[in-house]
Parts: sequence; structure tokens; C-alpha cells
Amino acid sequence: LSRLSGQPAVVTGAAGGIGRAIALRLAREGAPVLAVDVKAEDLAATAALAQAQGTPVETMVADVASADSPAAILDHAIARHGSVRVLVNNAGIGGSHRAGDTDDAELDRFLDMNLRSVFRMSRAAVLRMPAGGAIVNIASIFGMTGFPGSAAYAAAKAGVIGITRQMAADYGPAGIRVNAISPGLIETGMTRRRIESSAWFRSQMTDMTPLGRNGQPEDIAAAAAFLCSDDAGFITGQVLVVDGGWLAT
Ligand code: NAD
Repeated sequence: LSRLSGQPAVVTGAAGGIGRAIALRLAREGAPVLAVDVKAEDLAATAALAQAQGTPVETMVADVASADSPAAILDHAIARHGSVRVLVNNAGIGGSHRAGDTDDAELDRFLDMNLRSVFRMSRAAVLRMPAGGAIVNIASIFGMTGFPGSAAYAAAKAGVIGITRQMAADYGPAGIRVNAISPGLIETGMTRRRIESSAWFRSQMTDMTPLGRNGQPEDIAAAAAFLCSDDAGFITGQVLVVDGGWLAT
């Protein structure tokens, strides 16, 4: 598939499990990609994998939660690739607690990293994107339903879903589509510790998941590539749940 050829893309959190898979997938589909993350070493590993698959990507080490980053990231992408047609807001942190065990510092951290950063990146993008642009926000099933010990995370992810619908309404007339993906339980660095330490968590991933296997970063990347492409040209303001059926049961 070359659905994204000539569609410059920015992918945040591209050193992590899901973001790396998205960056590699978009590059394979022809997009010139700027891969962004705070972790320089892991980001270099993403670039090496992109090179190995024959579709090199640009990289930029940046903290998307810092106020100046969004404009700097978008402007860098435009300087390298001429424009930005696709933004995937994937960077995020996991591992929050019950509300009663969440102090203000933790609440602020999750809102800054997982919500404010998405708002600011999207704002910077719509001010620079031409018609035909697409934003994909990586939300979570935990922003849609309850799950033990995820209060601050859920607050941020539900906010991401709110921004998605709101911006779809505001920027549809400008030809910019805004959608979200809510991954289910996906095998990445974010979930590794709980997969290893909790039989209950493992059973959620398999027994409680109709498709009966652990979600993989590539499952999310395939959905992201679809939503970024013109195949999704009449889809905006939607939340695509990619969870093997977990939420449906
Ligand atoms: P991960 O920890 O493997 O990757 C996240 C990446 O984001 C890391 O490389 C990290 O350095 C980067 N990052 C975090 N904060 C950043 C910042 N301020 N600036 C720049 N980069 C930053 O986790 P993952 O599972 O690949 O998560 C990717 C996204 O998917 C997150 O938004 C997460 O909330 C979401 N998600 C994951 C799951 C899951 O089960 N793994 C489920 C639902 C949603």
C-alpha cells in the first residue's frame, strides 16, 4: 500500500511500542515521517528499524508536554518535508492509581503528559495543516469504561476523546479530519510489568478478550494508517476501538 505517499506525518512517542509501530507503518505506506520522543536512544532504534525496512524516517528528540515543543515540532517537520498532513498524538504515560491514592502532583502529571500535550500539539497542527489533513489521537478504552486503578489516566484519556470530537466539528469545514483510536490491552513497555506480575491482568488480556490473544502495537498501527489515509476520507470525530472485543463483552 502507498496510501500515504506525499503525506508528511508527525508521530509522537515514536520510541515506544505503539508509536514505533505507527511510525514504521506510515513510512511503509509512503509517508515522509518525523518521529518524535523524549528517549533519544530508543528513538534512534526506531530510526534504525525504519532504515532497515527501506523507508528512513527523520527523528526529533522533544518533550511534547513542554509548552514550546508543539510549534517547534510542527515547524521542524514543515522545514524537512514541506508541510504536515498527518499528526498522530501517541506519546503518553501509563500507571496511575485509584482517585483516593492520587495526589495533585500525579494528577497534574497525567493531565500535562496525556491531555494538555495532545491539545497543544493539535492546536499547533490545525494552525499549519492544509485541507486534507488528518489528526489521530491515541486515547484508551480506559477513557471509555472503568478499570481498576486508572483515575488520572482515565481523566486525561476521556479528555482526549472530548478534544477529538470537538476539533472534528470545528475543523471539518477546513478539510481536517480528527479521529481517535482507543487501544485495548496492548503488549508494550507500558503494560509489560503488569503482564509479568499479575495473573488477573493476563486473564483480562486473553480470557476476557473475545479474540483471545494479546493486542500488538501493529494492530494499532494498521488502524492509525487507515484513519490517516483517504480511505477514511468521510470519517471524522470517531473513536475506533481496537481491543479484540474486550469492551464489547
Ligand atoms: P510506551 O511506554 O511503550 O511508549 C510511550 C512513548 O511515549 C515512550 O517512548 C515515551 O518516551 C514517550 N513519551 C511519553 N511522554 C512523552 C513526552 N512528554 N514527550 C515525548 N515523548 C513522550 O507505551 P505504549 O503502550 O506504546 O503507549 C502509546 C500510547 O498508547 C499512549 O498514549 C498510551 O496511553 C496508549 N495506550 C496504550 C495501551 C497499552 O495497553 N499499551 C492501551 C491504551 C492506550
